[in-house]
Amino acid sequence: MSFNYICKMKQIEIEELENWYPKNYQNKIVGRRVIIGQIIPIMDNLNSLFKVNKIGVSPLKKEIRNIIFGKGKTKILIWTQMHGNESSGTKALFDFFNFIERPGQLTYFRDKILNNCKLLCVPMLNPDGAEAYTRVNSGGIDLNRDVIDKKAIESRILQDILLEFQPDYCFNMHDQRTIFSVGKNNKPATLSFLAPSEDKERSLTDGRIETMKVIVSMNNLLKKCIPGQIGRYTDEFYPTATGDNFQKMGFNTVLIESGHYKGDYQREITRKYTFFALLQGILYTVDAGHVEDHQSYFEIPDNEKKYLDIILKNVKYQGKKSDIGILYEEKLRNNEVCFDSKVDKIEDLANYNADKIIDKVEVNFRNLADVVEWLKNKNI
Ligand SMILES: [Zn+2]
Repeated sequence: MSFNYICKMKQIEIEELENWYPKNYQNKIVGRRVIIGQIIPIMDNLNSLFKVNKIGVSPLKKEIRNIIFGKGKTKILIWTQMHGNESSGTKALFDFFNFIERPGQLTYFRDKILNNCKLLCVPMLNPDGAEAYTRVNSGGIDLNRDVIDKKAIESRILQDILLEFQPDYCFNMHDQRTIFSVGKNNKPATLSFLAPSEDKERSLTDGRIETMKVIVSMNNLLKKCIPGQIGRYTDEFYPTATGDNFQKMGFNTVLIESGHYKGDYQREITRKYTFFALLQGILYTVDAGHVEDHQSYFEIPDNEKKYLDIILKNVKYQGKKSDIGILYEEKLRNNEVCFDSKVDKIEDLANYNADKIIDKVEVNFRNLADVVEWLKNKNI
């Protein structure tokens, strides 16, 4: 007779998370644009579990800080907003800090994390881009394509941390545009994941397989609450991308792309699911044994680009029957993110989905400006 003495760790339940979240998320940072001035006072007020350090300044002299906590062996590096206008990861990270400070009925999981992990977080790598609401930094550099050249000071700060900290796992937090969709019904890709390739052949190295397992673990939890809205980002190798290179250097790097949820233009629903994903990804590192294989990573459907902000169906454009697809352009005006309508497609859009679908508009649009004007008058 044999005995199995392996005691498996309890898995977190989605209902417990849904209960905890509304009363405890970080409600001081909401909306699409998050800037350094909003997060500094929160960092200053974190409790004694956290150690906050200034690690540099941006070209426009804004502080870049890191936050360190946990006394375990597994080292986890998380950075957010390397693209300044992608704030969901930052909001989710501060939700996670609240979880560490006041886990309530989820204390068991919080303690597992603090006892097994050491976390180093950089909550806004590109504060200048955040202020200006741009993807790039103040010098026009895309930090996610600067890993080899290291032209930007922000890129050097991140790599210095990486090499000094030597993490076992990295979480690279981004936002993706509304256009990304998943599956036959073209639902919005609310969350997409990637275990980046280390080479052109997209080889399945041991490290990459481990990254895939983190994603399998997150997907298993998330598919209970947003089924059909989780996608897999293309694993084409980008020689200058951060994740691909970090993975190649031996640091398992999970890419999380927060995307659209119907009606949620401020990405407040999305940030909740991003927090769930991040928390589950970290819990995976405590109990990697609960994911036995990486194969179901490949069952996550590919991201496609079949989602628009608005579709006007069966309208007339220059006398011809057609559909019109609108994509919003995000513009910062008076410190507010505005969503300007822009015609993206004039064609049969039967294979597309949208946040709003308006059928049979009785107007013959003469030109693109007509369409934009009509939307404005209808307050859409
Ligand atoms: Zn990004």
